[in-house]
Amino acid sequence: MLDRYHFIRVVGLSVIVIVLKLIQNQPPAVVAVEGRVPLPAAPASVALAYDSRVAAMMAKVTQSLVYTATGGLSGEWPVSIAGQPFIIHDRYSNAGRQQVARYLYEYAGSNGVPVAYDSYFDLNPLPGCPNTVTNVVASLTGVISPTEVVILSAHYDSYSSSSSAADDNASGSAGVMLAARALGNKSYARTLRFVWFDAEERDLCGSYKYASHLKNAHPEERVIADFNLDMIGYDTDSDGAMELHTRLTSSAGYSDDLAVAGVFTNVVSTYGLSGVLRPVIIADAASWSDHDSFWQVGYPAVCAIEDDTSDSNPLSKT
Ligand SMILES: [Zn+2]
Repeated sequence: MLDRYHFIRVVGLSVIVIVLKLIQNQPPAVVAVEGRVPLPAAPASVALAYDSRVAAMMAKVTQSLVYTATGGLSGEWPVSIAGQPFIIHDRYSNAGRQQVARYLYEYAGSNGVPVAYDSYFDLNPLPGCPNTVTNVVASLTGVISPTEVVILSAHYDSYSSSSSAADDNASGSAGVMLAARALGNKSYARTLRFVWFDAEERDLCGSYKYASHLKNAHPEERVIADFNLDMIGYDTDSDGAMELHTRLTSSAGYSDDLAVAGVFTNVVSTYGLSGVLRPVIIADAASWSDHDSFWQVGYPAVCAIEDDTSDSNPLSKT
């Protein structure tokens, strides 16, 4: 199954998007409008300064590591959980999701990122939601502005117990894993969080719980960005298209979302990736993934997804 996928270098970019958010507040490179907007290269006036430390982190994300992580999450080969080999057969059932959560928990910890389960139990959950949802939250507390929080997220659950769901969303989960690996064991100005959400395929239950909890129980924290990865492994026409979904241009939160997307597009230019990655900002307020849970509580968020319009994966759920 995995051989279908041509991984582009978005995982590396996911790493540096976060790093650069930590380093500086970047004005957006471009102004997007409603609908699909192919982006020009960022103007020189807002180009980022090249930073060799960032480049070194990017280099830690390799094609083979991405391939291995995605295959492990989708049952192509065993992973290690509690020191034992384990094949992840499903990321849908309660038992299956529990194993995956444990795997991600151990992965973050072993890469120098303090980690915790973020679990919720509801006797009467929202329609479509399981009784128990368990997000995995790995966090590097900021040393200068600890209450400013930058989040990189992906959902780890799948659409059904019979699907390996390599693209949706082992690919995004692997992206967050590799970012945690590249950024772990270090300190940053802002708090940096890697979050794997549960139950996205059931009406965004996991991320809804997490974002509402942040908003209601942690008003001292300010979410600077959620950069959400949902399906980043498919590119059969090899054009490198990567959709970045924001709220509508008429939304009060649009400029915040655009600032997040603007970091991504600037990184593509500055680090010489324009030949392999083509960001397309789409201001359509798409509500089909976990970034929407952040929008619902008023936090900036962007969803990165492969070209789901003109080169969409017919087997994304399988
Ligand atoms: Zn998905």
